[in-house]
Amino acid sequence: MTQNFDAIVLGAGVMGSATAYYLAKAGVRVLLLEQFELNHQKGSSYGYSRVIRYTHDHPIYINMARAAYQLWFALEDETGEKLYVKTGGLDISFPQQPTFQKRLKCASEAGLEYEYLTDSEVCKRFPQFHPDEGMHALYHPDTGYLRASRCVLAFTRRAQTLGTTLIDQTPVTSISKSENGVTVFTTTESYTADLLVLTAGSWTNELLAQLGLNLPLCVMPMQLGFFQATPKSEFLAERFPVFYFHIKDNYGDTPYGIADDGGIGVKVSTCYGWETVSSPTQVDYTPSQLWIEDIRQFIRRYVPSANGQLMSTRRCLYTMTPDKHFIIDSHPDYPHIVIAAGFCGRGFNFSTLVGKILADLALFGKTEHDTSLFKLSRFQQ
Ligand SMILES: Cc1cc2nc3c(=O)[nH]c(=O)nc-3n(C[C@H](O)[C@H](O)[C@H](O)COP(=O)(O)OP(=O)(O)OC[C@H]3O[C@@H](n4cnc5c(N)ncnc54)[C@H](O)[C@@H]3O)c2cc1C
Repeated sequence: MTQNFDAIVLGAGVMGSATAYYLAKAGVRVLLLEQFELNHQKGSSYGYSRVIRYTHDHPIYINMARAAYQLWFALEDETGEKLYVKTGGLDISFPQQPTFQKRLKCASEAGLEYEYLTDSEVCKRFPQFHPDEGMHALYHPDTGYLRASRCVLAFTRRAQTLGTTLIDQTPVTSISKSENGVTVFTTTESYTADLLVLTAGSWTNELLAQLGLNLPLCVMPMQLGFFQATPKSEFLAERFPVFYFHIKDNYGDTPYGIADDGGIGVKVSTCYGWETVSSPTQVDYTPSQLWIEDIRQFIRRYVPSANGQLMSTRRCLYTMTPDKHFIIDSHPDYPHIVIAAGFCGRGFNFSTLVGKILADLALFGKTEHDTSLFKLSRFQQ
């Protein structure tokens, strides 16, 4: 028999989990569906940590960060869990590098209280780093990391407490839409609802086709490694800021790293990878040994004391848009269907706010937050 809900959220990564939570908080009867087990490793949201910061490269993201931080604090208060760890954060670069210039300009225009450091000031204050002579740094004290999987589980637990039905290991196989509702089908069941929020990450394209939409999303497989650093005390959150080096090489674009949280090692990855594919079915999740060798060259040169034993490594997915901006919008013909995708490797820190915006769009058809960069129409000409 078909079960009915007020809203169905399709995909329980961080975006879907956050959306279910904010909808449930608004008194909505939510069904949250996930194809794999909750907190699985095949998508974008699993893991120990994701960077959160104010120092973005567009004013919209800085404004979003202002709202998102407050919502993370509220979630921590509500759940009693420590989800955000403040470490401070460095963007290190030669001064003329455009990506660095853009962040500095946006930080200044937004009135962020950052510090500007020379290479010798970086070395004195943070001796873990060996920047090249002539490199400079933007330091912001509120950068830090979110305990990623714990955030997803905090959202889903709270959503369930507020009445959400979560069903995992259940792929949605098709969606049927009408003027004022949707029916989603799994291999064994069907569910109806007035509202649908699609938060399917790298699997979005397959589902969008059934909603009459086609978006230029692609999948970027990424690899990350956790490396033992010595002495360990210098690489814990209290002493080791999040870092980004605005450089690129065989390992990818803009290597970054996050402090060792409880003996797992220092996380090192890059902001962008080296290839894209059109679907997650084309992804080889086997970690590349070559990438480890390449990223070690970066570590050896710029953060040498973190070049210890590889403690773990894995591959996971980014969902990319051509302009590297998100998609957060209502369906042009069916406003009760809301779509969020293409978070381009930087969505996690905004996920509180994105969840709230998606709940607003589903319930009221509008939001007080600026989503002008994230419209579907930019790809529908
Ligand atoms: C290695 C890595 C590092 C990152 N670092 C940062 C960072 O430092 N800071 C930051 O802000 N962001 C970062 N990001 C990006 C951030 O993690 C993502 O933007 C965010 O997790 C995207 O979440 P999502 O819910 O859209 O996607 P996902 O987590 O992939 O969730 C989508 C879910 O939908 C489910 N689904 C899909 N199709 C179906 C179906 N048919 N039926 C049922 N369920 C379905 C999937 O199984 C999946 O669980 C990083 C990402 C990666 C991979």
